[in-house]
Amino acid sequence: MIRVWLGDITRLTVDAIVNAANETLLGGGGVDGAIHHAAGPALLEECRRIGGCPTGEARITGGYGLPARHVIHTVGPVWRGGDQGEDELLASAYRNSLMLAREHGVASIAFPAISTGIYGFPPDRAARIAVETIRVHGESLQVTLVAFDHAAARYLEEALG
Ligand code: ADP
Repeated sequence: MIRVWLGDITRLTVDAIVNAANETLLGGGGVDGAIHHAAGPALLEECRRIGGCPTGEARITGGYGLPARHVIHTVGPVWRGGDQGEDELLASAYRNSLMLAREHGVASIAFPAISTGIYGFPPDRAARIAVETIRVHGESLQVTLVAFDHAAARYLEEALG
């Protein structure tokens, strides 16, 4: 089951929210900054102990001050024109997040539009990859795709068909 929701991912009461992190896992701007701000400094402490995450992979932590029990940190690709393996890396970020969720007994999970902010991935193309990957690897999970603005919501609705 996949739904689209417009708003701030840090407010969602789900088992896990996904963070569009960078390889250092030490926090950043955009949704990463919002998640760390809402979770509090203990999240950064746990991330520090993990010691980073390569692009396309995912790592799980507690949710601390968030309503969500877990944060799944994944690193999407920086858009470099589309011929540097960006599509596969983005799919891999979604796939590895879903696998990790399952391993940890997560039933409900929310994703931001990974890579479509600072990392510059075209949002319509990213929405199609998100939906395709979740349809294949998200079976039996309740998935919320979070749009932070109306344009993002429209791309996600279009991708869902
Ligand atoms: P990336 O570096 O992967 O591009 P960004 O955080 O810059 O990550 O952007 C990813 C997406 O998250 C963008 O579509 C942005 O609008 C959205 N976003 C930013 N803040 C929030 C938030 N609090 N909740 C949900 N989505 C958010």
